[in-house]
Amino acid sequence: TVGGDIVLSVKGLSKHFGGLKAVDNVDIDVRRGGVHALIGPNGSGKTTTLNVLSGIYKATSGTVVLDGTDITDMPPHQRAAAGLGRTFQNIRLFRSMTALENVIIGAERPGNTLTGKADDEALTARAMSALTFVGLGSRADELISSFSYGHQRLIEIARALGANPTLLLLDEPAAGLNSSEKLELHALLKRIAAQGLTILIIDHDMTLVSEAAQHITVLNFGKRIADGESLAVLRHPDVVSAYLGT
Ligand code: ADP
Repeated sequence: TVGGDIVLSVKGLSKHFGGLKAVDNVDIDVRRGGVHALIGPNGSGKTTTLNVLSGIYKATSGTVVLDGTDITDMPPHQRAAAGLGRTFQNIRLFRSMTALENVIIGAERPGNTLTGKADDEALTARAMSALTFVGLGSRADELISSFSYGHQRLIEIARALGANPTLLLLDEPAAGLNSSEKLELHALLKRIAAQGLTILIIDHDMTLVSEAAQHITVLNFGKRIADGESLAVLRHPDVVSAYLGT
């Protein structure tokens, strides 16, 4: 049953674009705590799945339950309020604002109206602790434009963490990072998981996925072709041939 061990339960999820079944009857159970990866070749339906999970697209059919709450028909801001955090493939930070200001904006959960000075202080403290958690607390007052690409990614993650999500969706967080930035990201994912938070990550970087994720779901042509413990999934013959395109 949902609400205990399983933090996100996706059942029979489909998203069709006209006649194209971009996501076709997919089940995903994300266990609480740790890193779960959603992988698959280009065009397999990963981004579409993520966009359905975060409410950008409406599902053609199926259900999505987050921590016991059916979020299938909720708009994105309600999902965020229900505990769903996400980052985007393309960095979406306000470049003329500081790192801290960007994280404060994210920490302000939609629907959570802040009125008093005490609320503002609590929000700033929460944002500051998220920024410290990703290792950039000492640079809180610098403008986004002064950060490297990799550090901007970390700030995006801090912004999502500031809202105290139950589940964090990361869309290709390693894209465009150099190898030392990837190591930093990997270490951060471990620290997040150690806090008991749950991460669902979409990525093409198989090294990152195989090292960071305990559980992997694989899509191909919109269908789930493998699911389970990471090493077993990566060795699965259907997964190997999907990636080789055979
Ligand atoms: P991935 O993220 O795994 O590369 P996508 O989810 O982006 O895959 O795409 C899955 C399939 O759905 C592809 O065939 C793609 O062309 C198609 N698709 C994605 N978004 C749209 C859209 N908005 N309209 C029509 N087709 C789409």
